[in-house]
Amino acid sequence: MAQLSKSEILDWLREDRTGPLRELYARADAVRKESVGDAVHLRGLIEISSHCRRQCMYCGLREANRDIERYRMTREEIEECARTAVALGYGTVVIQAGEDDALTSEWIAEIVGAIKRTTPLAVTLSLGERSEEELRAWRKAGADRYLLRFETSDADLFRAIHPGRSRNAPDRLAILRQIKQLGYEAGGGVMVGIPGQSYESLAQDVLTFRALDLDMIGIGPYIAHPATPLGSGRLRPPIDPGDQAPGSEQMVYKMIALARILCPTANIPSTTALATINRTRGRRQGLQVGANVVMPNLTPVRYRPLYQIYPAKACIEESATDCNQCLRGQIRSINRFPGRSTGGRGELEVNAGVLANAASPLVQLQEKSYGG
Ligand code: SAM
Ligand code: SF4
Repeated sequence: MAQLSKSEILDWLREDRTGPLRELYARADAVRKESVGDAVHLRGLIEISSHCRRQCMYCGLREANRDIERYRMTREEIEECARTAVALGYGTVVIQAGEDDALTSEWIAEIVGAIKRTTPLAVTLSLGERSEEELRAWRKAGADRYLLRFETSDADLFRAIHPGRSRNAPDRLAILRQIKQLGYEAGGGVMVGIPGQSYESLAQDVLTFRALDLDMIGIGPYIAHPATPLGSGRLRPPIDPGDQAPGSEQMVYKMIALARILCPTANIPSTTALATINRTRGRRQGLQVGANVVMPNLTPVRYRPLYQIYPAKACIEESATDCNQCLRGQIRSINRFPGRSTGGRGELEVNAGVLANAASPLVQLQEKSYGG
């Protein structure tokens, strides 16, 4: 089944009968268990700046949106969040922001270096399309992973929703290859249900995850933001209504399941956007159809409403401690366990936090990373 053809993937994306879909989800869950185990890795998310120089047609942080108050965290605030991540037992922090020119190469490198020197955390960066020099400097400073969703593999749609900063449209697939070459674990991904996005292009997205051999794959529903050209309906990429893929919960589950089946060892989060469209069950269901990562929010609560990429985002009022407790409870409720290692790709945790074989290289690696 790992060799699904494009037409088979397309058939699954158009499938909406409960019986066959249950089979798809069960298959993906079995692949997840066999390939990455029952651990759910917790990546503490720090949204360090809401300033952005880009005009992505779907995102509330786009530069042209003058209706929001912008913020940028201080170095001390970011390092404090990293200490909280350690105290809460997370293995990774994800440092995310708009494409903010004030986040200079040196400043980010200093922060990454400080976190790597003083904590056992893996550091993931998600700072948009940055130059090769910047990516190289941050890798040298110790950053382990870089996330840059390619959003859609449909080149025309990509161009329509990402006005370039130069004459050439950005090529995120090329940047992802560069990220891998620099020695990062590379994370890509897509939104599901973008106006103008066809079922066929979603099938191509799944094949692209595999072709790029991504280490992390982020898949979430597109959520309309009324202060954006796409969300307000001012921009309508052309598409036959029968071809338009819905941004439904079910379509996101299908994409997660197919990504897991085609990319068995990738880290796949059950996203906050999924929790936003189904607050009670979304995150857990994502974990039950192939996902193995969640991203509790560490951003200071006063900044959270300002990082409004889409409206009514889940988990913006809970403190870091509450987020941690809530997510751990959700993980236990589906008979999984919170990961204790940094959770890099290929790093498999074997059972519920009590490691089976104390002599295994995995245990040594974990003990090393936690100073044991
Ligand atoms: N600026 C960086 C970038 O673009 O990669 C990182 C921050 S950006 C807010 C992170 C992700 O948010 C994007 O890759 C996109 O998939 C997602 N996003 C933005 N607007 C969204 C929307 N309206 N609905 C769902 N996801 C959205
Ligand atoms: Fe900026 Fe990222 Fe939003 Fe695009 S998706 S406007 S780059 S924050």
